[in-house]
Amino acid sequence: MGRPNVGKSTLFNALTRSRDALVHDEPGVTRDRHYGFCRLVEDRPFGLCDTGGLSGDEEGLAGATARQARAAVDEADLVLFVVDGREGPSAIDDAILAWLRKTGRRFFLVVNKVDGLDLQTVLGEFARYGVERVIPVAAAHQRGIPELLEEVVPEL
Ligand code: GDP
Ligand code: MG
Repeated sequence: MGRPNVGKSTLFNALTRSRDALVHDEPGVTRDRHYGFCRLVEDRPFGLCDTGGLSGDEEGLAGATARQARAAVDEADLVLFVVDGREGPSAIDDAILAWLRKTGRRFFLVVNKVDGLDLQTVLGEFARYGVERVIPVAAAHQRGIPELLEEVVPEL
């Protein structure tokens, strides 16, 4: 989960190695829950859910998307909170983080789009979030995926 356009669907595709999830340049394309299987770790397949972006808007379609995303979090064993390493932390990310903490769900912070960025600087920007497990990836380039799986799979 995460706000629109951070690369949630791209990450879903990288993990499921499918083109099932809609990836689009326009923010907010995925409106509901989208399920798939990650079979990249032999003998340890797991189910995965891609959700629509949370914009902080509770009205109309954005509100419906937010309810779907929250329902996905409710049923998840582990949540991947995806943020955009290029843009850094935003007010919406702050709000999602606060909400996630309230749910009591286990979550990892996945910092996407780190391709071409200085890792120390990017991770430093998100350090104030105080999240224990932070995983930098570049989902569009399949970078960081093995490291992400190494962290995620033992938790399932
Ligand atoms: P979602 O709204 O969170 O599902 O985001 P999408 O997966 O649809 O991706 C939004 C945009 O970010 C698209 O233009 C992607 O190509 C781009 N994107 C996704 N992952 C990466 C990445 O690792 N690096 C860069 N530079 N762009 C990415
Ligand atoms: Mg999407």
